[in-house]
Amino acid sequence: MSDSLPPLREVVARHGLAAKKSLGQNFLFDLNLTGKIARAAGPLDEATVLEIGPGPGGLTRALLANGAKKVIAVERDERCLAALEEIAQAYPGRLDIVPGDALALDYPAFLAERGIAGKVRICANLPYNIGTQLLAGWLSAEPWPPFYERMVLMFQREVAERIVATPRERADYGRLGVLAGWRSTARILFDVPPSAFTPPPKIVSSVVELRPREEPIPCDARALEMVTLSAFGQRRKMLRQSLKSLPGIGDPAPLLEEAGIEPTRRAEEIEVAGFCALARAYAARRG
Ligand code: SAM
Repeated sequence: MSDSLPPLREVVARHGLAAKKSLGQNFLFDLNLTGKIARAAGPLDEATVLEIGPGPGGLTRALLANGAKKVIAVERDERCLAALEEIAQAYPGRLDIVPGDALALDYPAFLAERGIAGKVRICANLPYNIGTQLLAGWLSAEPWPPFYERMVLMFQREVAERIVATPRERADYGRLGVLAGWRSTARILFDVPPSAFTPPPKIVSSVVELRPREEPIPCDARALEMVTLSAFGQRRKMLRQSLKSLPGIGDPAPLLEEAGIEPTRRAEEIEVAGFCALARAYAARRG
């Protein structure tokens, strides 16, 4: 699906939007690809979509052309705002352009201020330098279930592999995989080659879908964060050693016993359920 707006290369040239590395700017101009990403977040007819980093608006246009009821687009680079305004005029009342830093937002409050009562989809070609930080924030959202019903996000392939990793992919499995596996079901949808971007990055990218779990295994998000930080901080060491760095614990043996985990196991061998059991035991001890 296309629109009557001018080609993106022309928009970028007319508004002087030379890509800035400091803002993680790698733009997508290929309408087939932006359409494919938008459809991965679909069907969009009744959907409000939160897009982070619309840039000159390639994906924004695809989301709107594919029927999104509303797109809320948060962009830090003020140079992009005039180009985005042209899209808003082509889709009256359907594009809400928000200048600002996506890392600084309290999302539930932000959406409530805009009169959004239902859940949103998050769809974005994320700035590579803050992608994991944004994702970790959304996966740590409280209250849970969160303010979104699905996320379709572009990351560097290496980050995508860490998001979907389990103990079977030991090298990639770490804190991000535990957090993503605890609160969502995540899968890689497809890869995108460097040549699809302007300027082309050095690495392959991947589009990842994350669907929040309605009822994740019970455990406290902060305790889980602390436990995985210690365990993966020394990932090659046995847990009886690495968990000594957990504040206020001393000898971790009783904690491991309570969680039903052999003290000789290593972090990269422990499934999400094991980390949740550890987090529950840790939270109980810390009161
Ligand atoms: N969506 C566009 C596309 O696919 O062509 C641009 C994607 S580009 C990888 C990332 C975008 O995020 C850039 O437009 C950049 O200015 C914006 N950005 C970077 N840091 C941001 C932040 N903290 N908050 C909001 N947007 C940010």
